[in-house]
Amino acid sequence: MAHGRAAALTLGPGRDKSLRQRHPWIWSGAVARVDGSPAAGDTVVVRAHDGAFLAWAAYSPASQLRARVWTFDDEPVDEAFFARRIGASVRRRAALLDAEHTACRLVHGESDGLPGVVADRYGDLVVVQLTAAGAERWRDPLVDLLVGATGATAVVERSDADVRALEGLAPRTGVLRGAVDGPVAIVEDGLAYRVDALAGQKTGFYLDQRDNRRRVRDLARGRDVLNAFCYTGGYTLAAHAGGAASSVSIDSSAEAIGLARSNLAANPSIRAADASWRTADVFTELRKLRDHARRFGLIVLDPPKFAPTAAHAARAARAYKDINLLALKLLEPGGLLATFSCSGGVSAELFRKIVAGAAVDANVDAAVIAPLAASADHPVSLAFPEGEYLKGLLVERR
Ligand code: SAH
Repeated sequence: MAHGRAAALTLGPGRDKSLRQRHPWIWSGAVARVDGSPAAGDTVVVRAHDGAFLAWAAYSPASQLRARVWTFDDEPVDEAFFARRIGASVRRRAALLDAEHTACRLVHGESDGLPGVVADRYGDLVVVQLTAAGAERWRDPLVDLLVGATGATAVVERSDADVRALEGLAPRTGVLRGAVDGPVAIVEDGLAYRVDALAGQKTGFYLDQRDNRRRVRDLARGRDVLNAFCYTGGYTLAAHAGGAASSVSIDSSAEAIGLARSNLAANPSIRAADASWRTADVFTELRKLRDHARRFGLIVLDPPKFAPTAAHAARAARAYKDINLLALKLLEPGGLLATFSCSGGVSAELFRKIVAGAAVDANVDAAVIAPLAASADHPVSLAFPEGEYLKGLLVERR
């Protein structure tokens, strides 16, 4: 391709290494020179210090993450390019959608070759979240291409993630195509849920926990279940569908608990006479349960992101340790704990250390039965380890 008129980033000496390993991020400190005057979201050619072509990338002057690579091939970044990327991404999920599963993530940002672009499918609705200047630039074609690739009848935008501020982008939400009024119906693992795409958390549903909800369903038979940070009841429904004896579900959001209750009621096939819901702070509630000497056979701990970046890791570690310690004490012998961290700033290794420390302080003997991760529709590109934000452990109390 002719590079003549395109703005160009030239990297400092030796700063091309990560790009040659196909890592898609270019930090401001790696850029030695900017030729031309690219605006936010413009496509720029990226060159090594000696002038060798490395990539085409989206420029983001407001962010320390100065550019994100669209392609390592010397090819035009145009609508046809995005049509190929969206088409491939949607096709990769084809096997994950059927009558029993009508929701999944269609595009998972960097790991699908589309930095800053997330798209989730909820039945006939697609929800998009754009979190980078380049993604923002291509917003209209991206939405059209998603509609074309899926046949969706409605599109909602949920570009209200905090990280947009780092790119100098204001939050934006709304209905972009079709009509959406209130929650939409989806089916996951044969269970009916309603998803509030406009006002719910993230894009409305925690699709990344789909495989783990199945796992909990398979383990729940006969157990008394505690679902802490239950949101709209995903794990609670899964546990009861798997034959749980009882459940206590806790979330601080009254809206989430409301939707959770109606989700359970909407599945008459689930026998869940003994399901209780508490709108409360988990940190406080776990202490109350401990003080009442309650015991559970299966506990799910799926808290929000305590550490968005490594800078918050120390404080986050204390919070993770606190809830894991309390949960381990609430487990009966033979009981299972499915515990998660979705903090980018806490590595899988650190998380395991935190849980190990919690077991020591709780004075319980416990073993990891299996590592847990995000579902298959949230792939982690081998070139992009940062994509592995969700890590979990299935722990058994001995
Ligand atoms: N496991 C859920 C997703 C959990 S998301 C699922 O499968 O759908 C994290 C949840 O924690 C959110 O619903 C949020 O409202 C809740 N939350 C955040 N801080 C909390 C706190 N201190 N106490 C109780 N709930 C909290």
